[in-house]
Amino acid sequence: MLKIDLSGKKAIVTGGSRGIGKSIALSLAEAGADIAVIYAHNADKAMQTKTEIEKLGRKALAVKCDIRKENEVENSVANIYIELGKIDILINNAGVTKDGLIMRMSEEDWDMVLDANLKGTFLMTKHTLKYMLKDKSGRIVNIGSIVGINGNAGQANYVASKAGLIGLTKAIAIEYGSRNITANLVAPGFISTDMTKNLIDRIKEAFINRVSIKRAGTPDDVASIVSFLVSPLASYITGQVIVVDGGLSLG
Ligand code: NAP
Repeated sequence: MLKIDLSGKKAIVTGGSRGIGKSIALSLAEAGADIAVIYAHNADKAMQTKTEIEKLGRKALAVKCDIRKENEVENSVANIYIELGKIDILINNAGVTKDGLIMRMSEEDWDMVLDANLKGTFLMTKHTLKYMLKDKSGRIVNIGSIVGINGNAGQANYVASKAGLIGLTKAIAIEYGSRNITANLVAPGFISTDMTKNLIDRIKEAFINRVSIKRAGTPDDVASIVSFLVSPLASYITGQVIVVDGGLSLG
């Protein structure tokens, strides 16, 4: 049987304090990797994830870093490299929403979402690549969204950031493929996390009705494909967009 084995690997998961990022962090740890969890505000949740990773017998770091700020990213990645000894895997998962119709969307709300989702992924990638290049090996997975493929009303900033991530992922794949560094994007549909819990029931039900598999996705549904993509089993897959939405985007 094919087994995902990440023994000896070192991974960074942005937004690993909760939701999809937490599930990815735990799943990579279960496969044998040591993990640095990056969070922005929620120290308690990040420490909880760190403890759960350590219970699996793996080394874990919880690192506070606002990925929108280059100096914080550069220092945090350098410290993680010193603590873990190398960086094999980068999961750019951290993301935010600030929804509104375009005519009512402020410049501030546009910038906040683009900075966290798109610029943050660029900065994390830029400062991690230099360590991956030293080892001539790396696996990068960016977490996009099906709305980055299909669009969505009331989320122009979020949609633009997630569409931009598809281009960024392909650019990384082309620039660094020759150095044995792959980059892929996982595009989830409707997943039960803090990000979706405040939607009113009527909207949640409408989403789930459109899902072929007739349930909301779980963070583990996303984590399993991410674990595969960073494993040796996926070493010839790069620049790809993998949709994990239970059939939501089939219409
Ligand atoms: P979530 O529960 O809201 O968690 C967001 C995570 O991002 C938290 O760990 C948060 O840290 C971190 N974060 C936010 N801004 C940051 C910043 N500036 N610097 C560093 N970390 C930051 O979100 P989720 O639902 O798990 O979503 C994870 C990813 O999947 C996002 O990229 C999201 O767009 C994408 N996605 C989600 C869904 C869905 O239905 N849930 C669907 C498609 C795509 P703190 O805990 O410190 O705040």
